Amino acid sequence: MAVYEHDVLVIGAGLAGMRAAIAAQEMGADVAMISKVHPVRSHSNAAQGGINGPGVGEDGGPWEEHAFETTKASDYLGDQDAIEILAKEGGREVLQTEHWGVVYSRKEDGRMAVRRFGGMGKARTFFVGAITGQAILHVLYEQLMKPAIHNAMRNYEEWFVTSLIVDDGQCRGCVAMNIRTGELHAITAKATVIATGGLGRVYEPSTNALICTGDGISLAYRAGAPIMDMEMVQIHPTTLKGSGVLITEGARGEGAYLLNKDGERFMEKYAPNLMELASRDVVSRAEQMEIDEGRGVDDCVFLDMRHLGEKLIRERLEEIYEIARDLVNIDIATELLPIRPGVHYIMGGVKTDIDGVTPMPGLYSAGEAACVSVHGANRVGANSLLDTLVFGRRAAEHAVPWIQGQKFRPIPESVVERDRAMIQGVLNRGMNGDRIARIRRDMGESMNTNVGMFRHPDKLNAQLENLRQLRARYDKVGVEDKGKVFNTDILFHIELGYMLDCAEMITKSAIERKESRGAHTRLDYPNRDDENWLKHIVLTKQPDGSEKMSYLPVTITQWQPQERKY
Ligand SMILES: Cc1cc2nc3c(=O)[nH]c(=O)nc-3n(C[C@H](O)[C@H](O)[C@H](O)COP(=O)(O)OP(=O)(O)OC[C@H]3O[C@@H](n4cnc5c(N)ncnc54)[C@H](O)[C@@H]3O)c2cc1C
Repeated sequence: MAVYEHDVLVIGAGLAGMRAAIAAQEMGADVAMISKVHPVRSHSNAAQGGINGPGVGEDGGPWEEHAFETTKASDYLGDQDAIEILAKEGGREVLQTEHWGVVYSRKEDGRMAVRRFGGMGKARTFFVGAITGQAILHVLYEQLMKPAIHNAMRNYEEWFVTSLIVDDGQCRGCVAMNIRTGELHAITAKATVIATGGLGRVYEPSTNALICTGDGISLAYRAGAPIMDMEMVQIHPTTLKGSGVLITEGARGEGAYLLNKDGERFMEKYAPNLMELASRDVVSRAEQMEIDEGRGVDDCVFLDMRHLGEKLIRERLEEIYEIARDLVNIDIATELLPIRPGVHYIMGGVKTDIDGVTPMPGLYSAGEAACVSVHGANRVGANSLLDTLVFGRRAAEHAVPWIQGQKFRPIPESVVERDRAMIQGVLNRGMNGDRIARIRRDMGESMNTNVGMFRHPDKLNAQLENLRQLRARYDKVGVEDKGKVFNTDILFHIELGYMLDCAEMITKSAIERKESRGAHTRLDYPNRDDENWLKHIVLTKQPDGSEKMSYLPVTITQWQPQERKY
């Protein structure tokens, strides 16, 4: 068996993974990065609207303002020690990307332009038109392509991780498939960073790429690491009718209105001060209430950008213009765009401290897969890109000194053999009339119906039963492609297993939290209940396979919970 050994192994090549890899490399570690797709196809590439830059010049604003707005938007479930770090160190990260070459949109005087994002008291979001994620991701990839880094680092592009290696309670790397050959290998590491992104596709529809299947969250859970705040699933206010493609909040940041079928700017009723730019949970619920009460058209309300003028639209929202034209044949400069709320982001994930450290020695996490927790019950727009950079870097900065005392251990072949047998088992199955795609769709649609925006215990419990049945179907379903080379059937099969794990964690945590907070709205408990529920819900798989549910207190540094109004 080929031996692959690295000091630091980063699983994921989105912004969090690349930022961690660059930092670890700069500190002299032997680094490797794995990605199931080519790095620049990671979902970070799809980020449109921008990145908050607290502390960047006057426009970024004082860090305290950003930290308070983040805390308030989190409905006070965010840990304030982590939020303070995000706000204090975020500006430096944004400027670093600018120095590396991200061409941020500019004002007339040449300084970096800002737009306003939801839940923020002022415009403090820096952006590159509506392709901010793409611009930053490509620039980070360029850094990794510099000969000094590229020649020293191993990039496992199009390798797929099937499990983490845990030995003696410590994480020692992973088992991964080289997708091109179909062979499985052990990749050992002194420190492993999970930066595998989100799980949006557990729901259908979703704004997320098809590859956002919660792999790292499930891998960490199966390995015994704690998973936190999984009930907190963000629903974005503006996704396209039908396909669910995201229409950036940047559109409202540039001044777009939300209208119901009678042409009313209905946000006046729900958030008279911030209107369309209230926090995402607030705006999404308002839209759904308009739709449910018959003031929508089909399952949509409208985004009105006509008054912005074609010049501004083409300069700052070109991608939105193209998405609307190409996918629904609408000219947003002259017509209303039908939109509806849709699943977008997971606030929960692998529980870490402020340095990306999980309770399992050798295991780190950063980015959307992690729960630090800076987003609490509801993430502020443009804070996720910031989170990936700040905590991706911090995870590496902690890991590199930590590995100094660590030694590689020989990994028994049986670790790889277990995953090989699992895959062979799937290949051996005949087609039983069911299909992976069908199970995946049934899971996604039922999650949307039963564990979506408004949650009721009857539906939540029904979904848990649904998931049991879906799991039973999953355990029996085969794949058509029996080959080794680029067998995407097998990958989709394994991903579906990861998604079912995540769906169960979301549903169980949603049943447990008996209050309404941020993105989690319980129809039977409509109010926030700080006395009983100002705490995180944590799920941990025990060595005997059972599951433990526990709670962690929320860290409060300076902002006591208040009633949330926008
Ligand atoms: C449409 C859209 C628009 C957005 N717009 C914004 C915005 O404007 N501002 C903002 O702040 N946030 C935005 N977000 C959120 C933000 O983009 C993401 O949360 C963030 O980019 C996630 O980065 P990441 O590095 O954690 O993960 P990702 O970029 O998703 O990368 C995950 C990586 O993990 C790898 N991976 C996963 N599983 C495996 C496996 N089993 N084996 C090997 N590799 C694996 C993937 O190949 C990939 O490289 C947006 C999200 C979406 C979906």
